[in-house]
Amino acid sequence: MAEYDYDLFVIGVGSGGVRAARMSASYGARVATAEDKYMGGTCVNVGCVPKKLLVYASHFSEDFDNAQGFGWSKAEPDFDWTTLISNKDKEISRLNGIYKGLLDDAGVTHFDGRARIVDAHHISISDRVVSTQKILIATGGWPVVPHFPGNDLVITSNEAFHLPTLPKRTLVVGGGYIAVEFAGIFAGLGSESHLSYRGPLFLRGFDEDVRQTVTSEIVKKGVNLHLNSNVLKIEKNADDSLQVYFEDNVSMTFDCVMYATGRVPAVEDLGLEHVNVNCRDNGAIIVDEHFRTSEPSIFALGDVTDRIQLTPVAIAEAMVFASTYFRDQPLHMDYTNIATAVFCQPNIGTVGLTEHQARDTHANVDVYRSNFRALKHTLSGSDEKTLMKLIVDRDTDKVLGVHMVGPEAGEIIQGIAIALKAGATKAVFDATIGIHPTMAEEFVTMRQTVSS
Ligand SMILES: Cc1cc2nc3c(=O)[nH]c(=O)nc-3n(C[C@H](O)[C@H](O)[C@H](O)COP(=O)(O)OP(=O)(O)OC[C@H]3O[C@@H](n4cnc5c(N)ncnc54)[C@H](O)[C@@H]3O)c2cc1C
Repeated sequence: MAEYDYDLFVIGVGSGGVRAARMSASYGARVATAEDKYMGGTCVNVGCVPKKLLVYASHFSEDFDNAQGFGWSKAEPDFDWTTLISNKDKEISRLNGIYKGLLDDAGVTHFDGRARIVDAHHISISDRVVSTQKILIATGGWPVVPHFPGNDLVITSNEAFHLPTLPKRTLVVGGGYIAVEFAGIFAGLGSESHLSYRGPLFLRGFDEDVRQTVTSEIVKKGVNLHLNSNVLKIEKNADDSLQVYFEDNVSMTFDCVMYATGRVPAVEDLGLEHVNVNCRDNGAIIVDEHFRTSEPSIFALGDVTDRIQLTPVAIAEAMVFASTYFRDQPLHMDYTNIATAVFCQPNIGTVGLTEHQARDTHANVDVYRSNFRALKHTLSGSDEKTLMKLIVDRDTDKVLGVHMVGPEAGEIIQGIAIALKAGATKAVFDATIGIHPTMAEEFVTMRQTVSS
């Protein structure tokens, strides 16, 4: 008889947890999972998927305007938030069912409810305790709102997906990708959208040209930017609107204030005090390159380890974990050249080093940059600009980084990321024949360096 009820117990069935559970089960492990709230995790329920649906919705207003230059008569479109949210919810329920089906089909035993670690080999879910040889913590992250008077009046991205109506005036506070994306969503849908960030320029960590380009582009799309701006307190008015007091003696009225000022690893009430799992100050679980914590039977991956917080990263880590421990084929996670997109409008797509990082780590760097108005906008009348940028190591000719701000930048950069992973040189980019007329062809036709 087996010593434990399960070989693996996965806490949290988000992007990483589902993949780790079903792959481990497919290699023959007896696997159980527990989920507190969201079948499929953050990405499916309150992250990537619903966000992208809202981005699509918000882009139509611009498309209606652009259509006139192509001969379409001016329409008076009417937007209904309730329809959007209810259609989005239907799609999320469908996905929830698919994720549950994936676990069932793999033979995973699933428990609905919050899991708590009892000791290094026991988990409790409600009043039930099960034993397991290994525990995988894949509990993700949770948004945090700083402490200030009136912070209970604000929402986070979790609630933004379920607002009963579209607010007339919205303030988004934060400088990361979620803040910038939501400011664009609200603006596109017709809310008077404001974005407040305490620093001089948002999207820290992205290439400087990308940050500058997005700053000017989102303003053109109707986002009111407040940089170097700090909220002091928020009060509720008699008509339920929110009075926001900023540091510089300015006060403004909004109907909704959304904070996107960061996420913390979800380790609260997990029972970590019963085991020897070391965490960083922000709660992030410390793991080695094989996802081992300081407790030999406990492992962690995904956002709860606070490394690269992206769905495909959590999934790739889960594949490595399952293969290493349940197929007996140890793999290593490669964190280099991970491409990413920001679905602000226009989108950002990026892979590899920023110009700044390249100059810090390489002696001789060539930069190729193109800033142009896309063919579509010669007729649409929009003054949207597209940015494309290549960073090249002059000594080896290797392309170190590729950055884009423009329509479908994520789709374009995904293809370019394969080239970077394969170690493509600038000569390979130059030898590639472009597809005409596209924006992406610019990446293979840039010949003139802009700075060295
Ligand atoms: C608004 C927003 C937009 C995003 N957009 C993108 C994007 O465009 N592209 C991208 O790649 N990434 C995006 N992300 C990030 C992405 O969602 C995460 O990186 C990814 O979901 C992390 O996966 P995970 O498995 O680590 O955790 P999660 O997917 O967060 O799953 C963790 C699960 O564990 C559950 N849980 C927590 N504690 C317990 C417990 N004690 N017992 C039982 N269950 C528990 C939670 O309910 C949750 O379902 C976005 C995130 C947000 C918030």
